[in-house]
Amino acid sequence: MSSIIEMDKQFVANTYARFPIEIASGKGSVVYSTDGKRYVDMGSGIGVTAFGINDIEWKNAVINQLDLVQHTSNLYYTKPCAELAKELCVRTGMKKVFFTNSGAESNECAIKVARKYAADNKGEDYNVIITLKNSFHGRNITTLAATGQDVFHAKFKPLTNGFVHAVANDIESVKKLVAENKVCGILIECVQGEGGVIALDKEFVQGIEKICKDNDIIFMIDEVQTGNGRTGELYAYMNYGVNPDVITTAKGLGGGLPIGACLMNEKTQNVLGFGDHGSTYGGNPVCASGALSVIKRLDNEFLSNVKKKSKYVFNELTGATGIESVSGMGLMVGIKTVKNAKDVVNKCIEKGVICLTAKDKVRLLPALNINDEDLAFAIQTIKQVCAQ
Ligand SMILES: *Cc1c(COP(=O)(O)O)cnc(C)c1O
Repeated sequence: MSSIIEMDKQFVANTYARFPIEIASGKGSVVYSTDGKRYVDMGSGIGVTAFGINDIEWKNAVINQLDLVQHTSNLYYTKPCAELAKELCVRTGMKKVFFTNSGAESNECAIKVARKYAADNKGEDYNVIITLKNSFHGRNITTLAATGQDVFHAKFKPLTNGFVHAVANDIESVKKLVAENKVCGILIECVQGEGGVIALDKEFVQGIEKICKDNDIIFMIDEVQTGNGRTGELYAYMNYGVNPDVITTAKGLGGGLPIGACLMNEKTQNVLGFGDHGSTYGGNPVCASGALSVIKRLDNEFLSNVKKKSKYVFNELTGATGIESVSGMGLMVGIKTVKNAKDVVNKCIEKGVICLTAKDKVRLLPALNINDEDLAFAIQTIKQVCAQ
C-alpha cells in the first residue's frame, strides 16, 4: 500500500469505500494513477468535471479570476457571480439565483423557498414537502429527510419534520399525499441518479406540474446530477415539457470546483428577502468564473454531440451479453448487469476503465466532451467484462 493511501486511511474519516487508486494527474477523460497506470474515467468525479480533467478553457477562466480576487464574501458585488446568475436566468427563463456550495445546500435553499412561500401565502401549517421514494437529495439532516431511502436515515433520527414520500410514476400516490397533508412543495429528480439511474415518465412529471399549479404548491426539480448538459439538454426538465418554480443544481455546474445554485422563477423570485438566507462562500468568484465558462460552452451544437455520444452508448450496451437492461438519459447511464455491479466495476478498473455504481447498477457519468476513442475503449471494455 502506498504511503498516501496509508495516511489517508489513518487520518481521513472512514466514510468512503475508496478504490485503491491514487489519482495523480490527467487530461480530458484520461487519468493517471501515481504508479503510472492509465484509466479512461467514466465517472468524472460523480458528474462534476463536465469537460474532463485539465480542461484549458475552464482552467483559464479559473486562473484569470484567481489572479484578480479569490473571495469577497457576499457583502460585496463581484462580476463572475452576477454574470453567472444572468447566464443561468437567460438560458432557463428563471428570474433569480441563490448560490450555494453543494447540491444539498441548493436543495436546502429550495426547501426554505417552498416553506416561506406557503407561510406568506397559505399559512405556516402548510409546511409538508413531497419527494419520491428512492430519491436522493443530499446528506445533511434536512435533505436526508427529503431523501426517500431508509438506508440513509438509520441512526440519524430525528430528521427534519415535514417530508413525505410518494411512489415514482404513480400520480395517485402524489394526489393522496396532497389530500392528506398541508403541502407546500414537491421536489423530484427527473432522472433518479443515486436511486439507480431511472428516468421518470413524462406523464408523471407533467401530472406533478398540474397538481402543483392546481393547489398553489411549489414545483421543484433537483437537477444536481441531471443538470448542466448531462441529459443532452441544458437541464433535464427541458426533456419533459414542464416549467418548475424552482430548480436546484450543483455537481457539473462547477466543472471541478464546488458551487451550487437554486434558481427561482417569476412566482418564487422574491420569496426570500434580506436576511432570509445566506452563505459565506456562495457565489465565490473563482468557482463562479469556472461555472460561467461551463454554462457558456453548453450550446446547442455541444448538446447535440452529447446526444450523439449517448446514442452510441445505449446502442452498444442494450442487449449485449451479460447486460440485462440499460437506463437513464444522455450521458447519465445505468447498466443492470448479470454479474454483481461491484465485481464489474473492479474488473473494469483492472482493465483501465473507471465506472461508478448506483444501487445494484453500474453507472456511467463520463465527461460530456469525452472523445470517441476514449468512449469506445470504455464501452467495449465494459461489454467485454459483462460478457465474460
Ligand atoms: C449528489 C446529489 C445531491 C447532493 O449533492 P452534494 O453536492 O453532494 O451535496 C443532491 N441531489 C442529487 C440528485 C444528487 O445527485
